[in-house]
Amino acid sequence: MIKRASLVRLNESLSNKELRSMARLLSDLMDNVPDVIYFKDRQGKMVLVNKAHARGLGLKPEQVVGKTDFDFFPKDRAKLMSKDDEHIIRTGEPIVDKIERATRPDGIDNFVSTTKVPRYDEKGKIVGLVGITRDITKRKHLEIMHGEKERLEKKLKALEDLNRMKSEFISVVSHELRTPLAIINEAISLLFDQVVGPINNKQSEIIVKAKNNVGRLKKLIDELLDLSRLESEHFKLHYSLVNLNELLEDSSGFFKNLAQEKGITLVYNLPKRSVNIFLDFERINQVISNLITNAVKYTEEGGKITIKLEMLESKVRILVMDTGTGIAHDDVQRIFHRFVQVSKKAEAIKKGVGLGLSITKDLVEKHGGEIWVESKLGVGSKFYFTLPRFYTSSVLDQEIMDKINSLIEKDETAYLINVLFINFKLFKERFNLVSEKLFKDLTNVIKDSLDNVKATKDEKPRLVFADEGFSELSILYPMATEKDAHLVCKVVKQRIERYLSDKKVKGVFTNIGISQYSSEGQLKTSHQILANLNIKKVYVGSETRKFKRVNCKLDVEVALPNVASEASKTIDMSEGGICFSSLRPLKTDSKVVIYLKFDKNKPSLSLKGRVARIIRTDEVSKSGKSLYRIGLEFIKLKPKDRLRIVRFIKSVS
Ligand code: ADP
Repeated sequence: MIKRASLVRLNESLSNKELRSMARLLSDLMDNVPDVIYFKDRQGKMVLVNKAHARGLGLKPEQVVGKTDFDFFPKDRAKLMSKDDEHIIRTGEPIVDKIERATRPDGIDNFVSTTKVPRYDEKGKIVGLVGITRDITKRKHLEIMHGEKERLEKKLKALEDLNRMKSEFISVVSHELRTPLAIINEAISLLFDQVVGPINNKQSEIIVKAKNNVGRLKKLIDELLDLSRLESEHFKLHYSLVNLNELLEDSSGFFKNLAQEKGITLVYNLPKRSVNIFLDFERINQVISNLITNAVKYTEEGGKITIKLEMLESKVRILVMDTGTGIAHDDVQRIFHRFVQVSKKAEAIKKGVGLGLSITKDLVEKHGGEIWVESKLGVGSKFYFTLPRFYTSSVLDQEIMDKINSLIEKDETAYLINVLFINFKLFKERFNLVSEKLFKDLTNVIKDSLDNVKATKDEKPRLVFADEGFSELSILYPMATEKDAHLVCKVVKQRIERYLSDKKVKGVFTNIGISQYSSEGQLKTSHQILANLNIKKVYVGSETRKFKRVNCKLDVEVALPNVASEASKTIDMSEGGICFSSLRPLKTDSKVVIYLKFDKNKPSLSLKGRVARIIRTDEVSKSGKSLYRIGLEFIKLKPKDRLRIVRFIKSVS
């Protein structure tokens, strides 16, 4: 009241000029704020409205003045508004920040916050009100979304807790079942082996049945335990450097016998060179064992199973192929889900519960690999899985492998530095260098440079592998820090550069690093594959670093013999190949021609490729069909095309 009186006195004492200036200030405020402002008289008639108010009604301010809310809004809404107005006029109580859902005259639903205060004349009598209405739809939606997010987070947390409880329950129950089951198994074995007395044929038959069922139970318990372990946050792979050829050969006798008992031929097709990669021996053994056991289970007498190990550019790929029952098209993806059995064979159903492949998939993926299947009912199945080749196909001495494995076990840090010559053949041709001499010289240069490196904790870096066929040299540096290892890379790089410059070889690049960028976009110069083991790479070549992937969305047309070509988009690309999405699963190793469109105005580049991997994604196309991610390796890439690709990769990286 005191404030109002003082304002009246202030108005009385203002000059005309001052009044005009105040009116201008008021109209500036009214017309420039996005909020709706209106003055009403005691009857609810508009005395003054701002542009925002009129705009909202699709009118001009002068068309609004003199009218009431009943002229613009639906009756119900106008009634509510006038009820508020009447309350203010009657009591003098303002309404502050009243939040309501409203429908604008143009039919759009929104949220508004309204503040209305009474207006008084000089005598203190209420003459009307002034209101400000603000559109708070965005803020409200954010609040709603925030609330929804919190609700979902709570729900997710509850589900996670439930899932954890379920895993713990399975784990406890399975553990508890194991011991009595082992005792039952032992007892049955004693009976069967007639240690406790002779049994007749009928008794023996019953005991065999019991024994088979104990076996089934044991498999189920083991799989349930695996499942809960894999789900646990404490699950850890125990990596070591493993010779994959040996891993496969170790169990080959067992599986060959298993197959032979069913009249099936089982053959291994392994590369001559050893493939050493970091993996969890037990777990990959389990993966291979699951796949081969399934192949035997679902193949009839006279069938054939082939196990093949292949080296790809950045992965190794293992194939377990059978000529068995095959899997129907619609079932192919389901078989990796838990508790899914699609075979109609009673014998097979009896032997499993449909957990093996889901565990296998989890294990492969935990290794950073991928797994897929191609199958045809009545023809057979091909189960493929890949593992990353963190370390290329080096033939390492047992002694070196032991050394690395013992370092891993002792939790000591070690660095493996791979010096890799990119396209060595091309490199030699380009510089007209005598092949053997060049590689020998380079080996000596590297050895020499290592001799000059100071030892850390009595350990010196040493050349552990040099293979001209793979144009690769490897240095093992135990107990080194990142700084020590980087220094070695630098020294090696400088020495190679000096050697090449002495030979007057120009245009060669030497790069420290690995073709990987961190999420922050920084080039990572070492790749940590275990907590204490890192790989560093030094690339030497006459072209840009090989196989750096860049994400890109280029138009690509995929042509296959006898079918219509498919238009798609690339996902990523490297000098070695592309990855694209496809509606067709394609076939592993099938040859395709692709047409890549780098430039809208220029013809597409036609390239040949081989399908290296196929993964079904969770995504679906607009027409609801499954989408596959196809990894394609270029074959017989022409230098001209390579150059175009390299140029593109450079331009987007
Ligand atoms: P199970 O332990 O019951 O065999 P898996 O998870 O290992 O469960 O396999 C799931 C289903 O996939 C099997 O029930 C079978 O129908 C199918 N399957 C797996 N491997 C093959 C194969 N090599 N040939 C045909 N069908 C197979």
